[in-house]
Amino acid sequence: MSLDLHKYVVSIPDYPEKGIIFRDILPLMADGQAFKQATHEIVDYAKNKHVDMVVGPEARGFIVGCPVAYALGVGFAPARKKGKLPRPAISSTYDLEYGEATLQMENDAIKPGQRVLVVDDLLATGGTISATIDMVERMGGVVVGTAFIIELKDLQGRKKIADYDVKALMEY
Ligand code: AMP
Repeated sequence: MSLDLHKYVVSIPDYPEKGIIFRDILPLMADGQAFKQATHEIVDYAKNKHVDMVVGPEARGFIVGCPVAYALGVGFAPARKKGKLPRPAISSTYDLEYGEATLQMENDAIKPGQRVLVVDDLLATGGTISATIDMVERMGGVVVGTAFIIELKDLQGRKKIADYDVKALMEY
């Protein structure tokens, strides 16, 4: 039986600032059946794409990406916040509403030609996922799909990644 995953998302108005509705997916991750279903829906989307690696940005992208990588039988590479990686890294900087942020990956995380699925918990403006895609491609990876548990339609992040295949399990 299929669960309605919307029931496991808690919406918090005015967090982290006035006017933003924060979509909290931690209750979904805390429920074994809901987390399993969400993972399987992403795995189903990816299973015919011949994925070699899954990549996800810190921090909820790790939680979404690792079980997907495990189920596909492939590796996972994190895109970390700046300054956390011990070995040589490449960086990508993107705009936030106020200021900017930088993500980094170890510079040998993706081998040229590898087929990569990029995942995160939520697609908002698309800045985070675009920065992650940018690093994967600079290492020679081929982004064969992107997947999110939630897409915020109004923010039109899909336009920023219009060149890529996008799967979102829920829309708000
Ligand atoms: P963006 O780069 O604008 O697409 O934002 C996506 C990233 O910010 C994701 O990693 C989300 O975890 C987080 N995020 C952005 N907006 C929200 C929101 N309204 N609720 C929960 N997380 C959000």
